[in-house]
Amino acid sequence: MSCYNGNVGTRTAEDIRTYTRLWQLAHPERVKAIKRKYRLTHKEQTAQEWRVYYQANKEHLKAKASAYKKAHLQATAKSKRKYNAANPERVSEWKKADYQRNREVRIATVRRYASTHKAEISEAHRIYKQQRKADPDVRAKNAIHSSTRRARKLSLPATFTDDQWKAVKKVYNYRCAYCGAKPKRLDQEHVIPLAKGGSHTVENIVPSCPICNSRKGTRILLGPPPVRLML
Ligand SMILES: [Zn+2]
Repeated sequence: MSCYNGNVGTRTAEDIRTYTRLWQLAHPERVKAIKRKYRLTHKEQTAQEWRVYYQANKEHLKAKASAYKKAHLQATAKSKRKYNAANPERVSEWKKADYQRNREVRIATVRRYASTHKAEISEAHRIYKQQRKADPDVRAKNAIHSSTRRARKLSLPATFTDDQWKAVKKVYNYRCAYCGAKPKRLDQEHVIPLAKGGSHTVENIVPSCPICNSRKGTRILLGPPPVRLML
């Protein structure tokens, strides 16, 4: 053994590299396991190394990824859906950034569409009017989405859903929370208006008749509704 140890000192750096390469070729599984362990215990370094590598091989990696996507359309779509469901905030950030980047182009596209599809658009309006006649709630359903958009724009919590709206109306026995009237159409009333920093969440929404709703507007003059149920 002493003979072996003595030899270590006489090895050149090149010898060691050759030996290491041979050992790696002979033990692919061990190499994999060691690399995996390294990645897990050196997450920050690994990420940094990857960033450097990515920058140096950007075009090649991009081409490779897009070829893979084309060859595995279904798998890619599935993993995209999974990722989007798990990272809603990141997705919404991306969408916002994307919208800002392409804002002018999008507006121009919408304008062009409007000028060349007048008949379709007036038909859509006609259908919407009919729907509103048949189901006064269509307006509220649409309001949910526009309030959600507005709240998100103001960076306010916005988690109110169609199902919650149904539940809220039921809890209030389909009556206005302010005056107790039972109108054909109930509006979603933000107890603290979005404009005053109220959230678009179930705790901040009560049903209101159109009259009370328009009286209140964005003021908090009416104060909390007389009928305030804790949901
Ligand atoms: Zn009312």
